[in-house]
This record gives sequence, structure tokens and C-alpha cells, in this order.
Amino acid sequence: MPHDSVTMEKIVSLCKRRGFVFQSSEIYGGIGSSYDYGHYGVLLKNNVKAQWWRAMLQERDDVVALDSAIIQHPTTWLASGHLAGFTDPLVDCRTCKLRFRADHLEVSACGRRPSKHAGETDDCDLTEARDFNLMFETTVGPVKEEGSTVYLRPETAQGIFLNFKNYLQFSRKKPPFGIAQIGKSFRNEITPGNFIFRTREFEQMEMEFFVAPGEAERWHEHWLSERRDWYLRLGVRADHLRLRAHGAEELSHYSSATSDVEYLFPIGWQELEGVANRGDFDLTQHAKHSGQRLEYVDSASGDRYVPHVIEPAAGADRAMLAFLVDAYDEDEIEGEARTVLRLHPLLAPVKVAVLPLVRKDRQPELARAVYAELRERFQAEYDEGGAIGRRYRRQDEIGTPWAVTIDHRSLEDHTVTLRDRDSLAQDRIPIARLGEEIETRLRAPWSSPKPDD
Ligand code: ATP
Repeated sequence: MPHDSVTMEKIVSLCKRRGFVFQSSEIYGGIGSSYDYGHYGVLLKNNVKAQWWRAMLQERDDVVALDSAIIQHPTTWLASGHLAGFTDPLVDCRTCKLRFRADHLEVSACGRRPSKHAGETDDCDLTEARDFNLMFETTVGPVKEEGSTVYLRPETAQGIFLNFKNYLQFSRKKPPFGIAQIGKSFRNEITPGNFIFRTREFEQMEMEFFVAPGEAERWHEHWLSERRDWYLRLGVRADHLRLRAHGAEELSHYSSATSDVEYLFPIGWQELEGVANRGDFDLTQHAKHSGQRLEYVDSASGDRYVPHVIEPAAGADRAMLAFLVDAYDEDEIEGEARTVLRLHPLLAPVKVAVLPLVRKDRQPELARAVYAELRERFQAEYDEGGAIGRRYRRQDEIGTPWAVTIDHRSLEDHTVTLRDRDSLAQDRIPIARLGEEIETRLRAPWSSPKPDD
């Protein structure tokens, strides 16, 4: 299937039909850009996050984990520059009353004529751009009084900087080392959209890597290639992934260099993850505002310095969307159309489905016993309802890489067929070896069978 036939509409519809993602509060007409993750969406996003932890933490010995609070001391956002500078340029249309991001006009639909872009028709009457702060404000305590205003964090990074001192003391780490966390962030985006690509509530996977000042550039390069390779190892097609360095005018106030890992979505090349060299901006700011020393002191040489920081910052929801888009495929089996998610087996929500060929002749009993054993090791599903072809296709649609079929021969010789989602090969395997076989296949390198465009 040429890649252009994957559309956002097809992904949205599959996600709803198969219980990955639902519009939030649908029975009340929905709420803009909020989504609820259904059963398979939870499993898929958990697998994305587990693979991130695996690469960032388990396979390294220089990164430690954190889970910091969503509501932090409000001075955090003064020090980080978010109160003053975390803004997007907002314009109002006096005609249709919609609001747009001034730098997104060419991709925003006009309120009166959605086939045109905002500002494109003679009726459009846009105001001058003004700054709009993206942080959600709320209050703590029972009384709304001065000093009770707090913010839902717009990024997880600041929680890491606030804990830098704790980590130097307890973790026995010294630069170069990193602190990683996954958690929800909140941004009052002016023009959210494109499904879970841009929402007002989303999960970030961020890591702050602290290094000696002279080593920042080298580590920036290191993390850029590490992060690109992570997506490739998880099967994203190489021609749909690229690195793009920010131009001087795009750089955030804290950054001396940022490169994005970008994916070719149906809406074009878009950021999946930013890898920034933040210098010593954050630690210096928090030291200034807290009065605490946030620096590293080498106990042998007595040298002290404020570490520089390299930050790979990814979005779990956006990564999940990219994996879904990259996996979505349509083909034909024996004259019947099939939709299949060719997900990397490590990401697939369900690893193996167990299906008795018929619902009689003691096949369901044996299938249930096989299922009980496999679910000890893998996320598995048992399904005995309907024609076998229909059951295979149901699993193909949620990306299950393998299906075990129990047939009359299974009762005689204790073998089953193991069907592969992508090659459709059916191998006869002894039941006693099934777990091991699936484990081996799960750990094997995998690349997408979808052709590069
Ligand atoms: P964008 O330019 O798309 O608004 P950003 O450069 O502001 O993103 P960062 O602050 O670098 O984003 O956040 C790191 C990552 O968090 C992004 O690469 C993206 O994957 C994710 N992310 C940021 N904002 C959102 C959002 N509103 N919805 C979903 N994911 C988001």
C-alpha cells in the first residue's frame, strides 16, 4: 500500500472501532482535544513507555528515574522562564470568532469556509497577534487568595532540575549522568488537533543529562543518534524519520542548539521529539531563585561547576501515533480485504492469540489450557467465537503478531500451528515449545515489512 493511503481519518476510525482511543466525554458531545485511552491503547502506550524506560534506564548505568509532582512551587515557573515566555502568538478572527495560532495560519481551517485557511478569504478579519500563556492556572487550598495560584506543569523537565541536589546526594552519580521521567504535562494549546498529535493533556518522556560544560556538544550528538536509533529499532521505516536542526530563530530561550527527530505523518513532517542543549540555564536560574547552590563539586580535585544539560524530550502519545501510522496497512487475503497493524512485536498490545479451530471436540478445553500457560509470560487473548478467518482478522487489526490455532491434530500429537501476522506462515510447533518459540521471536530484530516509499 503506498503510504499516502494511510490517512489520519483511517487511524482515528480504527482506534475507535478497536478500542484504542476514544473522544473524551463523548456522551456529552465530547470536549476539544481530550482523549480517553481504551484497552488496546493503554497496552500500546504502556509498551511505548516500557521500551523508553528500557533504553534510557535498564540498558545504561548512567541514568536514574524520577516521578515528580504535577503541581510544583509556583516560583519554579518564574525561574524557568515559563511565566514570562511560554507563550504562543494568538490572533482572533472578528468574523467567525475563532482563535488561531499566528504561526499556524496556513494549516488552520477558516471558521466560515473550512476548505480555506484562516485569513485567506475576504471575510476573514484577523486581529494583531498577542502573546497567550499556555500554562493552565489553578489554585491550592480552600480560599482563592493571593499566593494560592499554581500551575499544572507544562513540561516534566523542571521537576528534574528541582531534584538535582537530592540526586547528587543519594544516587552516587556524577556527571555525566541523567535523570529520566515520564508523566503528564498540560498546555492550553490554542490550536490543538490532529487526533492525539497535539492535545492539551499529554504524556512526556523526558531525560535531563548533566555533563561537564566542555562536553555538552559531544553528548548532544550522542543523544541525537541514540534517540533516532530507538525509533528505528522499534521498526519505524528509515525513510519516514529524519533529524532536523533548529534555525537560530526557532531556538527556545534556554537552548543553544536543538534538533528534532521528525516523522513523516499523513499531515507532513512533524516533530516527534526535541533533543536540546540547554546549557546551564535551568540550574543557574533555580540556584538564583532558591538561593541554593546547584553545582557539582569534584571531591578529588575540588573543582566545582554548574553542569550543562542535554535534554531528549519526547511525547508518549505522539510516539504512539507515529507507531500506529507507520504500522497501518491494508492488503488482501484470498480475495478479502484486511486491515493490519504491522507493529513491532514488542509494541503490539497483545503478543499472542489462542484460537480453537472449532468450538467442539475438546478443542476449546485444550486451547484454554494453552492460553492459561502463555498468559503467564505474555499479554495473550483467547477467542473461540466465529469463523477462524474473522478471528485472525480481528487480531491483525490490533497488531497481534502471532496466533496459535488448536485443531483436531493438536489433541492427537500435542502440536499447534503458529501463524505469523506479516508473512502469514503457519508453523507446526509442539505445545511444550510454544512459550520458548514466542520468546525467541519477540527478542529477534524486527523491521517493517511495509516497503519504503
Ligand atoms: P510543538 O512545536 O509541536 O508544539 P514543542 O517543541 O513545544 O512541540 P517540546 O516542548 O519540545 O514540544 O515537548 C517535547 C515533546 O512533547 C514534543 O516533541 C512532543 O512529542 C510532545 N508534546 C509537546 N506538546 C504536545 C501536545 N500539545 N500534545 C502532545 N504531545 C506534545
